Amino acid sequence: MTKAVFLDRDGTTARDVHYCRKPEDFELLPTVPEAIRLLNENGFKVVVITNQSGIARGYFTEETLAQIHQKMTGELAKYGAWVDAIYYCPHHPDDGCECRKPKTALFHKAAEELNIDFKLSYVVGDMQMDIDAGKALGCKTVLVTTGPQPLVSSPKSPVSSPQPPIASPDYTARNLLESARWIVDNRG
Ligand SMILES: [Zn+2]
Repeated sequence: MTKAVFLDRDGTTARDVHYCRKPEDFELLPTVPEAIRLLNENGFKVVVITNQSGIARGYFTEETLAQIHQKMTGELAKYGAWVDAIYYCPHHPDDGCECRKPKTALFHKAAEELNIDFKLSYVVGDMQMDIDAGKALGCKTVLVTTGPQPLVSSPKSPVSSPQPPIASPDYTARNLLESARWIVDNRG
């Protein structure tokens, strides 16, 4: 059994552009290659789990998504970083599927295919659904504040001091590199 870091895509590893529809729209966030390489070097499987309802909505095809993910892996390769697998949910939120986060079917599929132990693993994302999925699996959780909006916000609460969410992450980081450093320093 191996340890893994499950990463969200949009808002966590890539700029959230509200439905990335073509490779030209896809852009890694600044610290991401270094962060993923650090996880690679420390023996973590790196697995991307992402909700891509734009497929069900007809905004882009699975073929285009594959091209977007080729761009992602190509950009990472320039820095000597890699992801071990990418899993996506293509369904609409109203479809009631078992794979759209915060449901955990894709995490279980990854664990089976890559022999991952959730108890040794981490979930990193910019949304409450990522934290909820991680908690349900027994993973440690890290919230990154690189998404389009803070997890919980109000006009009176600045981004730097959000209200505690319903399920609190184990750690809150400003970017993926800070997340990766915390994970490497805190691994059991
Ligand atoms: Zn699904």
